[in-house]
Amino acid sequence: MGERILVIGGAGFIGSHTVDHLLTQGYSVRVLDNFSTGRRENLPASHPRLEVVTGDIGDSHLWANLLADIDGILHLAAQVSVQKSIENPVNSCTENIRNFVIVLELARKRGVRVVYASSAAVYGDPQTLPLRESDPVVPISPYGLEKYSNELYAQLYEKMYGLSHLGMRYFNVYGPRQDPYSPYSGVISRFIVQMRSGQPLSIRGDGLQERDFIHVADVARANVAALFCTCSGVLNIGSGCATTIRQLGETLCDLHGSGEFSWVPPIAGDIRHSCADITAMRTLLGAPKITLAAGLGEFLNTDAGVDVGAEAVGA
Ligand code: NAD
Repeated sequence: MGERILVIGGAGFIGSHTVDHLLTQGYSVRVLDNFSTGRRENLPASHPRLEVVTGDIGDSHLWANLLADIDGILHLAAQVSVQKSIENPVNSCTENIRNFVIVLELARKRGVRVVYASSAAVYGDPQTLPLRESDPVVPISPYGLEKYSNELYAQLYEKMYGLSHLGMRYFNVYGPRQDPYSPYSGVISRFIVQMRSGQPLSIRGDGLQERDFIHVADVARANVAALFCTCSGVLNIGSGCATTIRQLGETLCDLHGSGEFSWVPPIAGDIRHSCADITAMRTLLGAPKITLAAGLGEFLNTDAGVDVGAEAVGA
């Protein structure tokens, strides 16, 4: 792996943090983003080793220039909402499967490694915890199925063409820069917005549903390590710690010094428990460094400190 990385979806939440980390490590970065959910302000206004291309990965006119001089691809662009994948599965399929095959073709033609965003959503509603990569994959939404299809396509390209690849099964990522006002953003953003406006934190159901929250800076480190390692297949990317929504609320109230809860009905089909076995991630990419309390504390104390971490697995 050389020096210049193409980051598709690099102006988004996970993408922009990964771009920051790549630049800090001395790499050159070409970002492609259509700014459907990402924001130009998420990236440095100017940087000698950063190039930003505005456009859609489905636009064939862009492909030749995108590939020039690149040494690796990080693919994060997607239709990221589970709910939208249910409401408009055809569009979601185009965004998440057709565009993924385009990325594989680009990687194959250029002969470079591709690291891509999969999701804990591939597991569906887990029967045993913590989830290991070898556990059954039973998606329960078009989004989860699309991410699993990506994994199968990448494996096929390895067999057919020797493509080097790694799929990142992200669990619930949290940290600055995720849009807190999006109807699809997660429980941490919702709680922080409620806390800042003096409202009670609304807990869905009994609050005992568990999630595995990982700070976006740890995800960025894992993404960069993944680009420069030789392992292939899929890896869980989480903290390895299960936290109930109620514990999350209590931690935020403790950090904030006040706060109370209100109780609202559960969402139909919400997954009850989720937690990653991160043995492979620790060995191959390094262990996460930021505890939930530390990450939330930093988050609460910064102006940009809004959101991250979707309550629905795989947002
Ligand atoms: P995000 O919406 O912040 O980032 C996606 C980026 O891709 C945005 O900048 C968007 O403008 C861009 N984009 C979308 N479609 C594009 C296209 N066709 N062409 C070019 N650019 C396009 O989302 P995120 O939270 O950073 O998620 C990144 C990836 O990780 C996604 O694939 C998502 O499915 C996956 N993921 C995220 C989480 C999480 O907790 N955030 C969990 C599991 C998986």
